[in-house]
Amino acid sequence: MPRPSFPTSIFDFQRQFSTEDACLRFLIQSRWPDGFRCPRCDHTQFYWKSQRQLLQCKACGYQASVTAGTVMHRSKVPLTMWFHAAYLVSTITPGISAMQLQRQLGSVTYKTAFMMLHKLRAGMVREGRDKLSGAVQVDETYVGGKKEGPPGRGALGKALVAGAAEVRNDKVVRIRLKVIPNASALSLTGFVKDNIESGSTIITDDWSGYSGIAKAGYKHRVDASALVNVHRVFSNLKSWLRGTHHSAVRAQHLQAYLNEYTFRFNRRKTPMAAFQTALGLGSQRLGPTYEGLASVAKGTGKWTHPNPSGRGNTKAGAKRKTAKNTRKSSPSLIEDVLDWLMGKG
Ligand SMILES: [Zn+2]
Repeated sequence: MPRPSFPTSIFDFQRQFSTEDACLRFLIQSRWPDGFRCPRCDHTQFYWKSQRQLLQCKACGYQASVTAGTVMHRSKVPLTMWFHAAYLVSTITPGISAMQLQRQLGSVTYKTAFMMLHKLRAGMVREGRDKLSGAVQVDETYVGGKKEGPPGRGALGKALVAGAAEVRNDKVVRIRLKVIPNASALSLTGFVKDNIESGSTIITDDWSGYSGIAKAGYKHRVDASALVNVHRVFSNLKSWLRGTHHSAVRAQHLQAYLNEYTFRFNRRKTPMAAFQTALGLGSQRLGPTYEGLASVAKGTGKWTHPNPSGRGNTKAGAKRKTAKNTRKSSPSLIEDVLDWLMGKG
């Protein structure tokens, strides 16, 4: 059985992931691409517990859930819907709003769609990711402030965002975006150190907040006219917030949107990796609960949106309702993938 392949169009996608079993197969193949091996005792034989969707080691009884650590874990939302949402989030250039997602999925509430998007966004920040390097343009910009979102939705006030664009042959390779409290040398130098390899060439304007760059271990080039690429990143970011999200992003959630934008941009050439990462495959990050998100909005923070320097807080609220098993699957349909898994080990 080959490693799972990635659909190249929404048509292929819908055909490939039209059932719960098809999604389950993909999860199993993604999780154990080289066959099952018990993390506790190294045994390769297991029982399949279809009710709880887990593999139980035949030797020591260790239970490995197919969805553990992913955004789908203990969710009542069917796998097909999670897959559909992750596909849209990771491959559609302008991303998707909660309202659009609700419309796409049909049978979920706005609250569920909103929640799903935030969980997928949480999967988008990779711990310990590589820093930008080479020639990097750095600037800061104000986002929001016009209050043009729908009334009562708490449209974004002015927020300051620092941006870095790694540029090669006049093209942006990777970006980083972060909400910063102010444009002081402390904030800006901190942003540079968190996101860019020391020794890189940092290009900025002559703002005094950047005066400490050279001392922090970088080559510093002051040239406001050379910031074309990072400015384009800012203007695309702003049209995305205006267009897809109607400027209705709350300041408290802005970092999550910046993470999503950065994620899609940096992974635009590797959609399969983007899709798997958004679902939480291969990382152990759990997304926030709805209560956690509400607490961010209220400022009582149980959940902190992970930030681009990579060390987010994953204390997702503990109040998770026990999910009813809404995704029973008949063992016969995934039997072959289980056989394959057993045989490979
Ligand atoms: Zn074992």
